[in-house]
Amino acid sequence: MNKWIYVVEDEPDILELVSLNLERVNFKVKCFENADSFLEMVETKKPDLVILDLMLPDADGFDVCKHLKSDEKTRAIPIIMLTAKGDEIDRILGLELGADDYVTKPFSVKELVARVKAVLRRPLMDVPKDRIELGDGALIIDTERHEVIQDGKRIDLTSTEFKILKLLASKKGLVFSREKILDYLWGNEKIVVDRTIDVHIKHLREKLGEAAKFIKNIRGVGYKLEE
Ligand code: CA
Repeated sequence: MNKWIYVVEDEPDILELVSLNLERVNFKVKCFENADSFLEMVETKKPDLVILDLMLPDADGFDVCKHLKSDEKTRAIPIIMLTAKGDEIDRILGLELGADDYVTKPFSVKELVARVKAVLRRPLMDVPKDRIELGDGALIIDTERHEVIQDGKRIDLTSTEFKILKLLASKKGLVFSREKILDYLWGNEKIVVDRTIDVHIKHLREKLGEAAKFIKNIRGVGYKLEE
C-alpha cells in the first residue's frame, strides 16, 4: 500500500515542488498551508510521515512537532522538519522536539525524497513491540510498560483488570469463555465463580469510557476484544 505523506508548508512553490516529487515516486500526498488544517486532518487520518515547515503563518513548527510527539496517538508518526536555520538543528533533533530528521532550506528535492525514504525504513525505536492498538489508537494496551491509554490518557487498572484486558487483546476477535479467563487468572487455585469475571469486566468497562465498546459480551459464551 502506498504511504501517506502530509506536507505542511505555507510557501506554495515549495509545496508544489515537494508534492510532485513525492507523488512521482508513488507516495500519496496531502498538502496543508497552515498548522490548523493539518492538525485537524491528523485527528481524522494519521499519515505515515509528516514534512513540517518550521515557520508557519498560524503556528511555530516547533510547537506543532512538540504537540505530535507528546501525544500517545501521534507520537510514532515520523516528522521531517524543514528549517531555514542551521543552528536550530540541535533543538529539532534533540529531546525537546524529537523530530526524526531535518532538511535545511534551500534544499534539493532529491535529497528530501531520499530522507523521506530513509526515515520510513527506520524501525520505530520508541514504539514497544508489545503494544496493541484498537480504534486507530483510541485504546492502547502496552503490556511491556503495563499501561493502558485511552484517547491519550492513562487509565488506572487493577492488576486483575489489566490481565483480563491483556488476555482478550492477545487474540483480537477471539471469544474467551469465563472459564478460560478464570484459568488464566488463577489457574488451579481458582476458588471464585464465573460471575467474578463479569464484575471485573464491568469495572474495566467503566474505567475504559469510550473504549469500553471494544469489549464485547458474547451471550452464553464469554468475552472478546474487537474493533
Ligand atoms: Ca514557511
